Amino acid sequence: MVIYNGRVDPYSPEESRYECLSCGARTDSGGRCENCDSESLVNIAVPRE
Ligand SMILES: [Zn+2]
Repeated sequence: MVIYNGRVDPYSPEESRYECLSCGARTDSGGRCENCDSESLVNIAVPRE
């Protein structure tokens, strides 16, 4: 399984990589939560070894 560290992959899979700390909604891009408009999104797709 290939994991791209810290760079934007133009062919990123359709996965939810960010989770909102406020409401728990998930989105595939950082920035604002599309559910509650919070900026408390955290990247949950942290590469592991
Ligand atoms: Zn939210």
